Amino acid sequence: AKRTGRGITRLFDESMDEGIRFRRRVEQGLSQAIDKGELSLVYQPIVSRGELEVIGFEALVRWNTEEYGPISPATFIPIAEESNVIHELGDWILDQALAMVQRFPGQYVSVNFSPRQFRRSNFVGHIMESVQRAGVSPGRVQIEITETAIFDDAERAAETLYKLRQMGFRIALDDFGTGYSSLYNIRKFALDSLKIDRSFIDGMGRERESAAIVHSIIHLGRALGLEVIAEGVETEAQVQALRLAGASHMQGYFFSRPVAPDLAIGLAEQRFLG
Ligand code: C2E
Ligand code: CA
Ligand code: CA
Ligand code: CA
Repeated sequence: AKRTGRGITRLFDESMDEGIRFRRRVEQGLSQAIDKGELSLVYQPIVSRGELEVIGFEALVRWNTEEYGPISPATFIPIAEESNVIHELGDWILDQALAMVQRFPGQYVSVNFSPRQFRRSNFVGHIMESVQRAGVSPGRVQIEITETAIFDDAERAAETLYKLRQMGFRIALDDFGTGYSSLYNIRKFALDSLKIDRSFIDGMGRERESAAIVHSIIHLGRALGLEVIAEGVETEAQVQALRLAGASHMQGYFFSRPVAPDLAIGLAEQRFLG
């Protein structure tokens, strides 16, 4: 499109600039966001299949900016991930989540770690130091990582996961089914659970393929001794289908949206069974 005319060239350049400018602002804004108090965490319950009791909460970050209003983590996490800002941000998130888990009556907190955080040198020592400082037992912390984090350098990742698991952390493989891993490969990694990506749960009622994928992830996950968490559960029909299929746990708007800390405490003792 660049060569077809001056107008188009300018438009193209301007929108490129706009994108770069936005990224730069996000990156700079993020490093100040913590001090400005613009960041917060919300918590979404993860419920058991049988009694629909809350067994854990996933921590999800929120950023309310002065300049643009709220920006989705789906937008700013990938930008942070491309620079070292992710470490500062990730440390803040972990510390908040660790302070919060002590207010829960027994549930674990599930924290997302981006690939760059996971590959940080001495990630294990760093996370261990954080839980010790907070006085939290590793068993109350679930580490959520994606396939991308572990398959680029599988050997090193396997070792990291092994150490973390030895220390008592729970490990969940997030967005399972969207990456390029296979169930054959994942057996090499010390995992506790697989989280089935929302897109498959969403398609379950409409497409036979999605339903088949959900069923096979559940069956093979269980055969490997892993828990299977279905995310993005929005309807009662999905709850019924997933319970029948044997999903271990469920998470989604049907139970609750991610909520502020005080509301999450209120949900902790709730049962979602009719
Ligand atoms: P994710 O880890 O896969 O998180 C699940 C996303 O699905 C969350 O979006 C959650 O609010 C949303 N969700 C949960 N239940 C439902 C449902 O029933 N229906 C629908 N439509 N959505 C549902 P959110 O909070 O916008 O986060 C988006 C992504 O940003 C996350 O995807 C994760 O990749 C990243 N992220 C969020 N918080 C953090 C964080 O603290 N650290 C890191 N590294 N990444 C984070
Ligand atoms: Ca997650
Ligand atoms: Ca996910
Ligand atoms: Ca996702």
